[in-house]
Amino acid sequence: MWNFNAGPAVLPLPALEHAQRELLDFEGTGMSILEHSHRGKAYEAVHAECKALLKEVLAIPEGYTTLFLQGGASQQFAQVPMNLVPVGKSADYVITGTWAEKAYAEAQIVGKARVACTTKANDTYVRVPESSEIKVDPDAAYVHITSNNTIYGTQYHSFPEPGSVPLVADMSSDILWRPTDVSRFGLIYAGAQKNMGPAGITIVIIRNDLLERSRTDGIPKIFRYKTIAGEDSLYNTIPVFAVYFVRNVLRWVKHEGGLTAMESRNREKGKLLYDTVDALSGFYQAPVDKGSRSYMNAVFRLPSEDLEKKFLSAAEKGNMVGLKGHRSVGGVRASMYNALPVAAVKALTDLMREFASKNG
Ligand code: PMP
Repeated sequence: MWNFNAGPAVLPLPALEHAQRELLDFEGTGMSILEHSHRGKAYEAVHAECKALLKEVLAIPEGYTTLFLQGGASQQFAQVPMNLVPVGKSADYVITGTWAEKAYAEAQIVGKARVACTTKANDTYVRVPESSEIKVDPDAAYVHITSNNTIYGTQYHSFPEPGSVPLVADMSSDILWRPTDVSRFGLIYAGAQKNMGPAGITIVIIRNDLLERSRTDGIPKIFRYKTIAGEDSLYNTIPVFAVYFVRNVLRWVKHEGGLTAMESRNREKGKLLYDTVDALSGFYQAPVDKGSRSYMNAVFRLPSEDLEKKFLSAAEKGNMVGLKGHRSVGGVRASMYNALPVAAVKALTDLMREFASKNG
């Protein structure tokens, strides 16, 4: 079965098998990791290893703190402005899709927020902006971007440089897809359920000066970054299994050769897919500008909705699932996260060629 789901998504088989092997007896403790206390020794080691592996794999420099939180990336839409926008200040948002719109809407509820750039045109999004298009307020608390737009299939291939204004990125759908210079960011957040593991845990990587300056006044304790950081993400009960599983995934990433290996595999998959779309451009149409094409979520259309339905059912017959475009945009979306093997994209592109020749 080839799983092209957008998230929750395909997980590395070795990470699943590892969990299966020790589900009933975690490391000889006689019980499952699911049953261990989040304050016990067994879990403590998992917690520490997960944090250390993330630091190693993503090359997080000194001067940053990693937090494990719940509530998904959607909670961060609210929590980032709650913590980082001081009274009387405002935050800048770059709007490149639905998730960016949602982040901006939450920030407007919390405080003041401003659009520094939008790439919405003809009621849709087909690109991310050039750095020069983003008009940053030099006084803004931060500039928020969405590094990969899961629904529209666009992705930044170089990041904006907002000078002294901290860059905040929602990397939910492309964290770990390739080596990333974390030092360019004031804060990175990502839900785990695409490249990192199961739903239920969200990672926040925050530069320490921003953490130190983050707000506490008028913010419930549970939503303060300082509370979570002060307790090493164990302020309240953490979803132990989700962290455990992210650890397994990070072990796999490291074993495979780290983010350089992830990138080359992801580029191979992306090239295969987009080359096929371009070679059959009389039949398949990729709406996204070439320079903004996402390696994580490739979207394309067929000549009619009827043919799209037929294509999706042919894909299912060929054991390929999760290819239906997001309900808000339609079409076909192939999510090709780290754990999706190249063979899956080969199977998909074989089907694309066969389908076009039969129906074109
Ligand atoms: N941001 C992006 C880029 C996403 O793709 C998603 C979910 N697909 C979210 C935010 C929302 O994530 P969650 O469901 O974890 O709140």
